[in-house]
Amino acid sequence: MDYIVFDLEWNQCPEGKDREVPLLPFEIIEIGAIKLNSERKITDKFHCMVKPVVYPKLHFRTKEIVKKTEEELAHGAVFSDAVKKFLKWAGSAAVFCTWGASDLTELQRNMKYYGVLNLLKGPLHFYDVQKLFAVNYETTKTRRSLEYGIDYLQLDKEKDFHQALSDAYYTAEIFQMINWDVVYAYDSIDAYQNPKTKIEEIHAIYNGYSKFISREFSNKEEALADKEVTVVQCCRCEKLARKKIRWFSVNAKNYYCVAFCPEHGYVKGKIRMKKTDEGRFFVVKTIKVSSEIEAEEVKKRKEAVVIRRRAKKNG
Ligand SMILES: [Zn+2]
Repeated sequence: MDYIVFDLEWNQCPEGKDREVPLLPFEIIEIGAIKLNSERKITDKFHCMVKPVVYPKLHFRTKEIVKKTEEELAHGAVFSDAVKKFLKWAGSAAVFCTWGASDLTELQRNMKYYGVLNLLKGPLHFYDVQKLFAVNYETTKTRRSLEYGIDYLQLDKEKDFHQALSDAYYTAEIFQMINWDVVYAYDSIDAYQNPKTKIEEIHAIYNGYSKFISREFSNKEEALADKEVTVVQCCRCEKLARKKIRWFSVNAKNYYCVAFCPEHGYVKGKIRMKKTDEGRFFVVKTIKVSSEIEAEEVKKRKEAVVIRRRAKKNG
């Protein structure tokens, strides 16, 4: 097994969001990657420039950040060749690692646009090194920049940031410092290629929380009518937990609830409603260890939502 730590640079519509191609808001222009063996020793590297086709002109922000010119990029490979080369180099036993979760999503969105998504079967288990860094050195919730991580660990900083290969290298260096216990306990799941059938649905248990990723539904109501979506099981023992506060929504996307396990106490649930590129829906549900104090906070939140909605209704 190899760890493939990769980083992408992308461009966006230079004329602003209104003029963008909805199926490809971010066009990949560079792929950089570092290969590590199962002991996390660096064994190889990969670098490829990609010729932008959808947005051949660079957005001014892209120019500022990645420090590349249109002329340089015009000599790049076409995306489908670049990604084929990259995946061949990565090998079939690759476990991907990235800083944050967006690179893997954008890689797949670009692959879908060019009709080569079949080369990478999802949902994908991967390591979000930004999250691992947070769990290992700070708190589970903090998210820091790559440069912050390098400074924090006092690692050498002689390479430019926002170059795909050097960012991949920096990410690999941080990944090497993470405790194995943290690595094993906190893998991530990318659901860009979300489960399509009941059999493909994902149930994952982590230290202190559990995650469920549902199959697709045609609308939100259908999703919320599904028992598997709304049931709350204790994230420690998996036994059914009794709801103390039923599911309620705070906006169009997020739903919360609180339940109680007789053995392990309070757990809190969160449902995130996800929309696919095709306009269908699936659910990511997380159940976390909680406390009476947190349960009280959720209760207050629910009451605030009820008051706000009532006020709106009464004009
Ligand atoms: Zn329990």
